[in-house]
Amino acid sequence: MDDNILVVNCGSSSLKLAVFDSDLNSLAHGLAERLNSEEASAKARTVDQQALALPANADHHMALVTLIEHFRSVGILKSAPVAIGHRVVHGGEAFTDAALITPEVIQAIDRCSALAPLHNPVNMIGIDAARALFPDVPQVAVFDTAFHQSLPPKAFHYALPTRFYRDWGVRRYGFHGTSHQFMANEAARLLKQPTDQTSIISAHLGNGCSITAIRNGRSVDTSMGLTPLEGLVMGTRSGDIDPGLFDFLMGKGLSTAEINRILNRESGLLGLSGATNDMRTLTERAKAGHPPSTLAIEVFCFRLARYIGAMMASLDRLDALVFTGGIGENSASVRAATLDHLALLGFKLDSAANSSHGRDNEHRIHEASSRFPVLVVPTNEELVIAQAARDRGYGPH
Ligand code: AMP
Repeated sequence: MDDNILVVNCGSSSLKLAVFDSDLNSLAHGLAERLNSEEASAKARTVDQQALALPANADHHMALVTLIEHFRSVGILKSAPVAIGHRVVHGGEAFTDAALITPEVIQAIDRCSALAPLHNPVNMIGIDAARALFPDVPQVAVFDTAFHQSLPPKAFHYALPTRFYRDWGVRRYGFHGTSHQFMANEAARLLKQPTDQTSIISAHLGNGCSITAIRNGRSVDTSMGLTPLEGLVMGTRSGDIDPGLFDFLMGKGLSTAEINRILNRESGLLGLSGATNDMRTLTERAKAGHPPSTLAIEVFCFRLARYIGAMMASLDRLDALVFTGGIGENSASVRAATLDHLALLGFKLDSAANSSHGRDNEHRIHEASSRFPVLVVPTNEELVIAQAARDRGYGPH
């Protein structure tokens, strides 16, 4: 029997699957996209990239079965995995860590669906599908919110009547916790100090963006809130807005559903540029003289710089500012433009190291005279999930 670990990450219309060996070496990846639509598609990467046939309107269950069948046919997953890890977006206040999936845990995830109606139900579909395929394999849920359960009350309370928190759980939860936790561990490793004595600011900049202050290895402030809409400018999400905007737009005849859709799917880099949510394309267009693309990047970087400053309020020491995510790892110009706003704080980038994205052993992109180290660290959420599945999934059940 191969001691493989399977990681399942269900998004609203996508499914990512990863297979690791028991030493957590990555063996294979699969990605299914545009699920539940005419254009449903899937591809798998083992040694090479291969497109797999999915019927129109294929759903998460079908995508999971197709990818697993493919991995079996190419000799990976010859036997059932020893553990399966699932990304679950919202764990509310019920989960401060990963959890072995039991009927009680399923009920608790279900209760959290009210707080993440777009995410938790699809995460549950992934769990059900994997349980149907591998009924005897221990399954582990890893929550995006869990790492942020260490936020102190001053950071997680909104200045609202406290009954909203008491009765309905209205508070800041924070997301991308798995990635920020990985950054805390990686930064500590690179700085050669223990994680619980390392304080960093972690900027996860992908299609979704969030920033977290991590004090001695624990999350103490983060930019996302009750939902993943709050905070930084993102690919299609607005991030912070004046809550008065709701009343204003409703006065213009928009429904709450329309406003919600616009804030989640038509705002951010896409809304500002009127062109795309893809930072690569925006950077090219800005260079070619497209003012809305330039504006989108400027708003993105300025908001990020303001948040880096804000995160300092939660720390008594800063060991490193760490960039990750598709934009954080690959956009030298975004990192440079952001830190240009923070010269007063003493950040100084080494432009050669920044241009090569810190791709050496130390991952550093700052000058020796910078007041704070700045690192670029590729995130690996699937590895963290596999590790949790291995650690929680073994042993008697
Ligand atoms: P993620 O959600 O982490 O996959 O990140 C997606 C974002 O990363 C998109 O906005 C991409 O345009 C951006 N991205 C990926 N590669 C690059 C690159 N080389 N330069 C700038 N942005 C990039």
